[in-house]
Amino acid sequence: MKTKLAFIILLFSITYVYSCREDTGDYLFKDVKIYDGTGSSATHGDVIIEGDRIKKIGDDLSCMVCETIDGKDLSLAPGFIDLHAHLEPLPLIPSAESALFMGCTTALGGPDGGSPINLRNYLDTLNQIGMGINVAYLIGHNSIRTEVMHLDGRAPTPEELESMKELVRQGMKDGAFGISTGLKYLPGTFAKTDEIIALSKEASLMGGIYTSHLREEGLGLIEGVEEAITIARDADIPVVLTHHKAIGLPMWGRSVQTLALVDSARNAGLDVMVDQYPYTASFTGISVLIPAWALEGGRYEAFAKRCEDPKLRDSIKAGIVYNILNDRGGGDLKRIQLAKFNWKPHLEGKYLYDWALEEGMEPTAENGAELVIQAQLHRGASAIYHAISEEDVMRIMAHPFAMVASDGRITAFEKGFPHPRVHGTFPRVIGHYARDKGVISIAEAIRKMTSLPASRLGLRDRGVIKVGQKADLVLFSEDKIIDKATFEQPHQYPEGIEVVMVNGQIALQNGQLSAERYGIILRGPAFER
Ligand SMILES: [Zn+2]
Repeated sequence: MKTKLAFIILLFSITYVYSCREDTGDYLFKDVKIYDGTGSSATHGDVIIEGDRIKKIGDDLSCMVCETIDGKDLSLAPGFIDLHAHLEPLPLIPSAESALFMGCTTALGGPDGGSPINLRNYLDTLNQIGMGINVAYLIGHNSIRTEVMHLDGRAPTPEELESMKELVRQGMKDGAFGISTGLKYLPGTFAKTDEIIALSKEASLMGGIYTSHLREEGLGLIEGVEEAITIARDADIPVVLTHHKAIGLPMWGRSVQTLALVDSARNAGLDVMVDQYPYTASFTGISVLIPAWALEGGRYEAFAKRCEDPKLRDSIKAGIVYNILNDRGGGDLKRIQLAKFNWKPHLEGKYLYDWALEEGMEPTAENGAELVIQAQLHRGASAIYHAISEEDVMRIMAHPFAMVASDGRITAFEKGFPHPRVHGTFPRVIGHYARDKGVISIAEAIRKMTSLPASRLGLRDRGVIKVGQKADLVLFSEDKIIDKATFEQPHQYPEGIEVVMVNGQIALQNGQLSAERYGIILRGPAFER
C-alpha cells in the first residue's frame, strides 16, 4: 500500500514538473544582475544551483524545491580567487573567515617562497579538518633551499641543486600548482638566476607556474622584473610578478616601465602576468630594512653576533638608513607603521616616528635605523610601509593582465594588527577603484579576481558563471560594496556582500558564517595519488 502511494506521488510529481516546466535544484538566485567573470557587461536573469554546480541560467526560471534567494538590486559574480594568500593559520582558523567575508572562495597559498615542505601531508591535514574556502598551494623555493642548504649564502653544489629539483618534483606530485620565490628574503636572496631557472624548469615540465616576490621592489625593481622575464623565457614557464608595485619615493612612477616590460615580454610570446593588492602600503617584517648579508646564517642569533662588532654594526646601520631613505622606508619614519610587535605591544599600530619620540630621540633616519636594530635584536616585528604611490596602484590596476590578490594572512576577527587588505581587498577594488573612481569597469574588476586568476591556475571549472561550472558565487550590492578596514582600524569587515557560496553551499549570508565548511583542496596538474 505504502509503495503504491509513493509511486503515485512520484508519478504525480514528474507530471507536475513536466507540465509546469519547472526545474529542480537546491538554490535559485532570482532576478539578479550577472557578471559572468569574463569581463563582458552584466546581464540579467536567474541562476539555479544543484549540488556543487551551476545547473541553469535563464529568464523567469522557477524551481520547485529550490530555496529562492532574492537577487533584486543585487549582483552575482563568480567567487573571488586570491592568487597570493598566506594560509598558514588555516589549521587554527579553518573557517577562513577573513577570506569569506570579502568574497574570496578560493585561495592560493605558499607565496613568497614559503610553503610546507611536505605538501602532501599538509594538504591531507587541511582536507581532514575541512576548510571554509577552496585551497590551492605552491611549493616555495625558500623552504626548499632551507631544507637542503639551511641559510647558507652561496651557490648550491650540483648535488644540492639535484636535491632541490627533486623537492620541486615532489611538491608538484603532492599537488602544487607551481613554484614561488621570495628573492628579497632569506635564503632566496642568495640564489642566482640560474638556480631559479633550473628549479622552475622542473615545475614547468609538470605543468606548473612561477610566482615571484621579486628580488627588489624598490631601487632594483626594473632589474627584478627583467630577471622574472628571463626566468619565464629560459624555464619556459608562465609567470606572475606578485604584489606588483614600485616602492620608495625614488621609484614612484616606474610602473610605466615595468608594465612596458610585461607588454613587450607578452608580445614576444612569454606568458607574464602580475597581481596586485589595492593599497599604497606594503606589509612585511621589519628585517626587510636590514641588508641581507647581515642576516645570513640566522635572523636573530647570527644577526646579534654581527651587531656586537662595532664596525659591522655601523655598516648594518648604514644599510638600514639607506633603505629608510630610498627604499621601503619611504624616506620618513612616519611611513613605517609597526604591526605585530611582541617586545613592545603598546606600539602596535604606531609609527617608528612615535617610537623615536617615546625614546626621546629625534625622528631621523639614523635613529630610526637604531630602533630597527633594537627591534630585530628582540625577535623582530612586522611593519606596514606606506611607500607606494596611488598613481602606480591605479596604473597597474588598469593593466589588462593585472589580477587582484590580497597578500593577506587568514585572520581571526579582532586578533593582532593586520594590514587592512586581509579584510578589504576585493570589495575595495570593486567599490572604491571601479565604482567610485572609475579606474576600471566593475566587469573588468571582477574579471581580474575570477576568470583571470582561474585561467592562470588552469582551473577549468571555476572563475566563470556558466552552466556546469562549480557554484562558487558572491551575491553583492553594487551600490553598497566597500571595504571598511583601515590602517588605523584594520578589523572591520567589508559591507555590501550578501551571500557567499562555496561549492553550491551557502558559506556566508547576512553577515553570518555557516557552521559547516564547504571548501575543498584543489590539487595541481601533476598531482599523483
Ligand atoms: Zn611578498
